[in-house]
This record gives sequence, C-alpha cells and structure tokens, in this order.
Amino acid sequence: MGVTAIDFALTDFQHSLRSAVDRICARFGDDYWLARDSDGQFPEEFHRALGDDGWLGICIPQTYGGSGLGITDAAIMMQTIAASGAGFSGASAVHMNIFGLNPVVVYGSDAQKRRMLPPIVAGKEKACFAVTEPNAGLETAKLATRAELRGDRYVINGAKTWISTAQVADKMLILVRTTPLEAVAKPTEGLTLFYTALDRTAVEVRAIEKMGRKAVDSNQMFIDGLEVPLEDRIGEEGRGFAYILHGMNPERILIAAEAVGLGRAALARATLYAKERVVFDRPIGQNQAIQHPLAQCWMELEAAELMVLKAASQYDRGEPCGPAANAAKYLAAEAGFHACETAVMTHGGYGYAKDYHVERYFRESMIARIAPVTPQLILCFIAEKVLGLPKSY
Ligand SMILES: Cc1cc2nc3c(=O)[nH]c(=O)nc-3n(C[C@H](O)[C@H](O)[C@H](O)COP(=O)(O)OP(=O)(O)OC[C@H]3O[C@@H](n4cnc5c(N)ncnc54)[C@H](O)[C@@H]3O)c2cc1C
Repeated sequence: MGVTAIDFALTDFQHSLRSAVDRICARFGDDYWLARDSDGQFPEEFHRALGDDGWLGICIPQTYGGSGLGITDAAIMMQTIAASGAGFSGASAVHMNIFGLNPVVVYGSDAQKRRMLPPIVAGKEKACFAVTEPNAGLETAKLATRAELRGDRYVINGAKTWISTAQVADKMLILVRTTPLEAVAKPTEGLTLFYTALDRTAVEVRAIEKMGRKAVDSNQMFIDGLEVPLEDRIGEEGRGFAYILHGMNPERILIAAEAVGLGRAALARATLYAKERVVFDRPIGQNQAIQHPLAQCWMELEAAELMVLKAASQYDRGEPCGPAANAAKYLAAEAGFHACETAVMTHGGYGYAKDYHVERYFRESMIARIAPVTPQLILCFIAEKVLGLPKSY
C-alpha cells in the first residue's frame, strides 16, 4: 500500500503572497505602531496601502472586485501582518474586510453584493460588526436590540457593546431581534441580520477606554430609532443567527492566525534582546532560564500554527472544521499570550517600557483570548461536541 505524505509546505503562490504583504508591512515600522498606540489614531495609511494593492478583498469573489482566495491564504496574510510588529493594531484594522462580509457573500442577493462589496474591497468604505450586547454577553440568543417593520423600513432600537471600528466605520453588519424571545420556538430564531449605514444621527457611538490596541477603537452603541430600508436586510427575516454561525469558524481561524503572528513578533524581539543584553559578563540568552522559555514558546507557536492550517484547509475543502477551528483559536491565543508574556520577562525592566514594544504586544495578546469567544466557551464546545459530554450551560 502506498504512503500519502501530509504536505506542510506553503505553495509558491502562498510564499509570494506572504512576501508581498510583508513588503507593505515593512513600510509601517515599530515607531508607526507605537505612535498609533499612543495617539489612538486609526491606521488609515496602513489600511489604504493594503487597499491600493488589492488586499482588502482577499476572500471576496472576483465578480465583486475581490481576489476570491481561501481562508488558508487569508490566514497567511493576517499572520504576516501581525508578525510584522503591526500586531492586533494592524490586523484588527483590516480584519472586517477579510471575512466580515461573508454573510453578504453567501446570503445576500446579487443586487446587494454589487452594492455592498466593491466599496469595501476598494477601501472606500469601512464596516463594523455589531453583535455583542451589554446584557446578553456570550449568550447571543438573548440579544434584545429590536428591529420593527414599519411599512418599507425597519426601525432599530437598543444597545450594543464592544463594537470595534465603529468610530471610523461607514457601514455596520448588525444582528438584532425581530421576533420577541417569548414568541419563538428556539431562542436562536427570530434574529435578523442587516448591512446598513451607520447613521450617526440615530446611533451614538461612545469609545471604551481599554487595555490595548488603542488605534482600533471599540465602542458602546446606543441605537435610537435607526431606520433601515428593506433592501438592507440580508437573507430572510428571523434567520440571522444561522447566517452568523456560518462565518464563525473562519473568524476563529483568522484570529488564531493573528495570535500566532503576534507571538512570533514578540519572540523575535525577545530572542534578539537575549543575544544582545549582557549581564554578569554574558549575554542573558546564554542562561538556560532565559533560553528554555523562548524555545518553549517557539514550539507552542509552531504547534498552534499547524492547527490553524489544519482548520483552514478543512474549511477550504468544505469539510466540517468546528473542532479544529475552535482548538486553533484556543491554542493560538494561549501560545501568543505566553510568547508575549515571556518576551516582557526576557526584557526585564525594559520589557515594561513602551520603547521596547513587547509591553504593547502583551496588552494586545489578551484580545485573542477574549474575543470573539472566551477559552471557557471553547472548552465547553470541545467537551460537548467532540467528547460527547453533557452540555454544561
Ligand atoms: C477588544 C475587543 C474587541 C471586540 N470587538 C467586538 C466587535 O467588533 N463586535 C462584537 O460584536 N463584539 C466584540 N467584542 C466582544 C467580544 O466578542 C465579547 O467580549 C466576548 O464574546 C465575551 O463576551 P462578554 O464580554 O459579554 O463576556 P460574558 O458573556 O459576560 O462572560 C464573562 C466571563 O464568564 C465566562 N462564562 C460565561 N458563561 C460561562 C459558562 N457557561 N461556563 C464557563 N464560563 C462562562 C466567560 O467565558 C467569560 O470569561 C470585542 C471584545 C473585545 C475585548
């Protein structure tokens, strides 16, 4: 019987993709990202540079101006961005472009796709994704923001929280309740998805002061009588939760790729510092107590990357990828966090100084652990869906 080897190598095309993205990122060095982290300005120049070279529609079909590539290619792109030192400040600035509008691609009408997708691909419009609510938390089925149909339009009232890029977004993909919870057979029914203008006369966007990634805002949103035309509803009324579910695995894969990239940026800085910093007449990197944690982080990041690529290739082949996508997100977030923490400790006191960049990475590494789903809920998913244990929540 023949042996089939598993190919772990990137294709020539994927190598050239990584080099091309790397060349753009090289124009935005550590000082650029340090300045954005301090002034909180959205990295417009970076967003534009990727848009100018056609990277903002990597997964959007070519008919609508994108490149029609797969999640594996997109994961390589996002990992490259984060690993360049742009971290989550860079990755989150374009994250929504990469896969965020997938519900429109899959469930939108042709007219909607022609209207909604090209401006995003061209970088002319930005969009945010509004799901989380203050009183629902991870229990998405409990979303309470309401849309009521009045003639030819819906009117939305309610509140969202943690909505990233809402300060700069022109549009929002928003999930709201159209049928009250009491009137649906299952709590996940009665939720509807819209892609519509972020009309600031009806939506108050209030920035949340947060731990890291200052350049990419996250916000509370107070929605008071927002009018949404019928033609901005994506798919059928009441089926929004199913549409969102469809995109959850690729989103986890991309976040995981970004976390591996961030961890690699931290490990590179720590390794360099360990070679250069001399204490007790020897480079600190000559001490096993410094080398071993760095070696461990390298292994953890490599292993997490393999899981990311496994999940991505399953998705691109149309196979079920839930367990691998969730495992990738969990493992990569923890590996990225551990690498950033180790990088700070390797730098000693200087690890706490902004000029050495690793404290910024460390703060950003928490994002991949918390969003879009927490480690606890991933463990619940694996326990229930993979191991067949009783549902615990
Ligand atoms: C920087 C950042 C950016 C974000 N951007 C966006 C965005 O653009 N759009 C958007 O919609 N949302 C966004 N979010 C929200 C994010 O997806 C949520 O914060 C996340 O899903 C967790 O929800 P929660 O904060 O309400 O936690 P909660 O649901 O309140 O949970 C709190 C804690 O309890 C744990 N917990 C809850 N239930 C259980 C259980 N049954 N078993 C074990 N543990 C449990 C959770 O794991 C968590 O640790 C962002 C968050 C952050 C931090």
